[in-house]
Parts: sequence; structure tokens; C-alpha cells
Amino acid sequence: MIAIAIDGPAGAGKSTIARAIAKELGYIYVDTGALYRAVALYVTAHGADPKKEEQVEPLLKGVNVEIRFIKEEQRVFLNGYDVSAEIRQPEISMAASDVSAIPAVRTFLFALQQNMAVEHDVVMDGRDIGTVVLPKAQVKIFLTASPEERARRRFEELREKGHHVEYETLLEEVKQRDYNDAHRAIAPLRQASDAVLADTTGNTLEQSIQQLLGIVKERLKDVL
Ligand code: C5P
Repeated sequence: MIAIAIDGPAGAGKSTIARAIAKELGYIYVDTGALYRAVALYVTAHGADPKKEEQVEPLLKGVNVEIRFIKEEQRVFLNGYDVSAEIRQPEISMAASDVSAIPAVRTFLFALQQNMAVEHDVVMDGRDIGTVVLPKAQVKIFLTASPEERARRRFEELREKGHHVEYETLLEEVKQRDYNDAHRAIAPLRQASDAVLADTTGNTLEQSIQQLLGIVKERLKDVL
């Protein structure tokens, strides 16, 4: 089996690019952030504080998260229900970030992520795929872009949806999240020593997809 691990900060374009690469290669795209989001949805629906380990950990025994592929798209099921849309709510993003710092949550989701790569050729994106989940992945990419560029992309995305948020506020949020992700005690966001760094600052989406496909094909040419 082939595994391509794509890690990096929020807003670098991981999911869009990873999905495009998976499609091109005929692999399965696994968005691991969705798993943390599903746990966050369960925890908040049960009135627990997603920051508090002593409230979150006991709830995990009631959580069954599954990934299913419907028309080649990942859907996330929480206790038998498709929650793929609900987990995208903005308040779930924050709660997912909170629960992801709890060791019991990371352990809980670890086997599920690893098993996906045992059964399928995968492009998997997240924060710790190349460092922790799939340390033997044949291709590892650390995808990033400047905080200003990521804030600008988010600003435009929100504006298209009719929301008005100050650019400066978004930039502060991006910087704060980068700091939190990189400084948490467990599985912090960092580039694996054998990962290729790809900076998409100034690229169009199509240029970034081509840049990453180039890296993947180069790395896989001895394997395939
Ligand atoms: O990628 P996404 O924004 O959907 O991820 C939601 C949250 O889950 C992130 O804020 C991050 O803290 C956490 N996460 C993680 N490890 C992963 C994927 C996501 O800690 N492999």
C-alpha cells in the first residue's frame, strides 16, 4: 500500500489539494481533522467542556466514529449518523482544536487512522500524519503558506459566503492557532524530518496542485 501524508497549518489548502491528488492517483482521500471534529460534536452535544480532559475522557466510550466512502467522498458517521455537514460549523472547529490536545482523544483516533492506510492507498491530511500516524508513509509533505496569505484566503472565502470579518482579526486568529498547534504537549504540528516543505504563498490553487503532484510523482517513481 502507498501512503501520502500531508500535514500543515489550517488554511494552507491541504484538503483541497489532497483531494485533487487522491483523485488524480485513484487513491482514497482521508481528512483526519473530520475525526477530531466528530469527537468535538459528541462532547459538546453532551454538555462537556472540550478543554477539560476529566469531562471528555469518560465520554469516549460512548463514541463510535466511522469513515465511509460514498461516491468516492469521505463521510463521517458518529454512532451511525452521518455528521459530515454538522462538523463544519465554526464552533466545532474551536472545540475540535480543544479536544485534539487531549491525549486520550488522540489515542482513541489513532488506530482508526492507521487502519485506513492498511486497507487502501491513501492521501491523508492532518497535523501529525507524517510524524505520528503514518511515520512510514512513502511521501510526506509539509504544506504551508504565510499567515497573511492564509488569512487573506479565509477572508475571501467568508466574504463570498456573505460574512464580514476584519482581515486583521482573521490574521490574529491564524497566528494564535499556529501557536497553539505548534506548542501543544502532544503531537504538536511540526515538519517530519523526511518531509518535503511546500510553500504555496503566491500560488493559485492549480499551481499548488501541480507543485504537489510533481513532488509526489518524483518521490514515487522508484516505488511504483
Ligand atoms: O483540519 P481541521 O481544521 O478540520 O482539523 C480540526 C482540528 O483537529 C484542528 O484544529 C487540529 O487541532 C486537530 N487535528 C489534529 N490532528 C490531525 C488533524 C486535525 O490535531 N491529524
